[in-house]
Formats: sequence, structure tokens, C-alpha cells
Amino acid sequence: MATYAYRCTTDGPFDLVAAMGTAPQTGTCPRCAAPARRVWTAPRLSTADPRRMALIDSTKATAERPEVVTALPPGRVDRRGSVAIQRNPALAKLPRP
Ligand SMILES: [Zn+2]
Repeated sequence: MATYAYRCTTDGPFDLVAAMGTAPQTGTCPRCAAPARRVWTAPRLSTADPRRMALIDSTKATAERPEVVTALPPGRVDRRGSVAIQRNPALAKLPRP
């Protein structure tokens, strides 16, 4: 659902909630029931959930600027003190040069 802005010539601006892409060009004013024209406004991104926006931003950043890895990820240490690397078993089936 999205919030769309309308302006009544008598009562001023008001909002209507409708499914995205289904907002009519004219809405009914809640005070006088007269038809009101739709007003184009900037998206209200500041009212979005900050955690959701942070996730979207980090996902975009990873796609455009992958992080440079300088060390192996933490894993199990074997008896000799070296880190056991988890290997994907599906990669073993790939042809070798
Ligand atoms: Zn009105």
C-alpha cells in the first residue's frame, strides 16, 4: 500500500492510501466529498524503517563495491593449529584445468 496526496480546492491537501500503481487521478475529499486532483510529491523515504533502509543500502554497496577481504573468515582450528577451510562440495564436481 502507498500513500497518495490529493488537493481539494475547498479544503486543501489530504492523503489517500491505495495499492501501488492503482491511485486514481481524482479522489474524493473526506470533508466535502468533492472530487480532488492528485498532487505529485516526493517519496517519503524518511518514514521508512531504518533497519530496512540500512539493509537495502548495504546490499547495493556490496553489489557495487565488494569488500576487500584480507583474512580468512573465522573457522575451526585443527590439531596442527591451522584453520580448517570449509569447502563447497559442489565445487569438487567442476572440471579442473
Ligand atoms: Zn473538500
